[in-house]
Amino acid sequence: MLNVPPQAFPAPSSQQRVAAGGRAKVPLKPGRSLMDWIRLTKSGRDLTGLKGRLIEVTEDELAKHNKKEDCWICIRGFVYNVTPYMEYHPGGEDELMKAAGADGTDLFDQVHRWVNYESMLKECLVGRMAVKPIAAPKGMLPEKKVLGASARDLTPSYDWFQTDSLITIVIYTKQKDMNAELVIVDCQDKRLRGEIIVDDHSYLVEVDLDHAVQEDVAVNIAEKVGKVEIILKKKDNIHWKMLGQALESHNTFIKRTERGLFYRKCKLVSKTEVTHDTKLLCLMLPRSTHLCVPIGQHVYLKQTIAGTEVVKPYTPVLPFLPLDFKEPPRHDGAHVYLMIKIYSCGLFTQALDHLQIGDYISVSNPEGNFKKSQVQTSEDLFLLAAGTGFTPMVKLLNFALTEVGCLRTVRLIFFNKTEDDILWRNQLEQLALKSERFEVQFILSQPTKDWVGKQGKISSSLLSEFVKRSRKDSKVLICICGPTPFTEQGVQYLKDLGYSQEEIHTFTA
Ligand code: FAD
Ligand code: NAD
Repeated sequence: MLNVPPQAFPAPSSQQRVAAGGRAKVPLKPGRSLMDWIRLTKSGRDLTGLKGRLIEVTEDELAKHNKKEDCWICIRGFVYNVTPYMEYHPGGEDELMKAAGADGTDLFDQVHRWVNYESMLKECLVGRMAVKPIAAPKGMLPEKKVLGASARDLTPSYDWFQTDSLITIVIYTKQKDMNAELVIVDCQDKRLRGEIIVDDHSYLVEVDLDHAVQEDVAVNIAEKVGKVEIILKKKDNIHWKMLGQALESHNTFIKRTERGLFYRKCKLVSKTEVTHDTKLLCLMLPRSTHLCVPIGQHVYLKQTIAGTEVVKPYTPVLPFLPLDFKEPPRHDGAHVYLMIKIYSCGLFTQALDHLQIGDYISVSNPEGNFKKSQVQTSEDLFLLAAGTGFTPMVKLLNFALTEVGCLRTVRLIFFNKTEDDILWRNQLEQLALKSERFEVQFILSQPTKDWVGKQGKISSSLLSEFVKRSRKDSKVLICICGPTPFTEQGVQYLKDLGYSQEEIHTFTA
């Protein structure tokens, strides 16, 4: 069955999300980078073979275009001629061919929902799938997305009330342990968007407000009863007849993976050097945004590069590693810190590096499948990081040392090329001095002859030396992050050493 979108043609605004699993990349031929693709799309060449016409495509017609040299794919009801894109696809031609002449939406969503295909493939758009009329049984409403009975019982609801100066929207989440990480609120130009995360579902209040409101928005969460209040300050103290016009996704409760990513523009407020090629960027959220990135989750940054929207994931860190373990870190809801390596030929990071203080960049809602409870139920925590794969470990490390009393050992095994590449080396060494429970081991793959520490890449012998249960049957969690081959090899070695899948968490997109 084809996924035909209910929205009007052309495509809605582009918002993608991340798949849970990683994807293999294949080496691209020279001249086939993303930048080369962007150049080709701007060259004015007819990439669809239809001379700019858009057509309605039947299922039969789609099925005919199933060869490498003539390949059409349907994504969310829109059909693209991906033949010219074949050699530029980072996942390889064979991956694309899996959906040749067919609906690739599910496959696309599994692998890389976040990739901005509407923008990337806009010159390849052939048209829209022809909608087959569906005969609805008499007396029934048109089909709606209905959740299972148990999920429906948990559907949040909302209400609103006003005083002379305030508008309060109350969301009854029906979830006991509500917290700031599960509530994302944005209010821009009279458009209010409040998203509540309930397990793997998302509830949305999304309205075009009846009247203007002030910039600062307050959010109160009654954690125990699961009540969330969004408090808006009226710009003019007039009586509102209604809250506003419901937008398309208003009052819906759907799977998170089905909800489009939402971006807000954040201001770059500082950029500091961490190493010779890595910078710490501080982005300021708009005053009307309430967003807190949970441990182990990433956000997407979106930039328009040479006219094409490009999206890449980054994992927020803390501004520094706190050395005081007495209090849980206070959530600074106003800033997002990103530690980003600038690659000399990197498309996205080069553009990022050219941002000036005061410039704006779009930041998405957080995503990721790491659960804090995984740490809370462990006795030994091992963090295997390579290069910027250190980023998800920052908040995790801080959480483990400040809030998880039952952890006996927290050990970071940090793989880098050279000494100069080690991120926050000083801070990590200080932390290791301060905390008896924390140890750090640096392992270099390209050390100078002066390096007296460990050398090499991830290997079974290195892992068996450093990853050990503190007791024979202690509960272990091993988190891994780095280049894909590093992560894949690490998982394999750990499994060979007898660790189970449940004891290993990989950070992937
Ligand atoms: P590309 O244009 O994709 O690559 C161009 C060239 O850059 C390559 O040919 C190569 O020469 C070089 N290059 C790119 N990647 C590598 C690499 N891994 N090793 C060696 N050379 C490489 N990055 C961060 O810096 N900080 C983060 O917090 C962060 N979080 C991430 C979270 C997730 C979930 C994922 C999947 C990735 C994360 N990344 C992070 C990586 C980031 O998303 C980009 O892939 C990275 O910034 C490179 O983007 P680019 O467009 O500049 O490079
Ligand atoms: P890098 O090239 O500086 O390499 C750092 C270390 O990784 C090397 O010293 C080596 O020990 C190891 N390594 C590199 N390539 C390897 C290979 N092929 N096999 C085995 N080990 C290898 O690393 P970098 O440039 O900082 O890249 C960091 C990577 O981490 C990027 O690929 C980035 O996408 C990824 N990352 C992922 C997340 C996430 O949450 N999924 C977050 C941040 C970074």
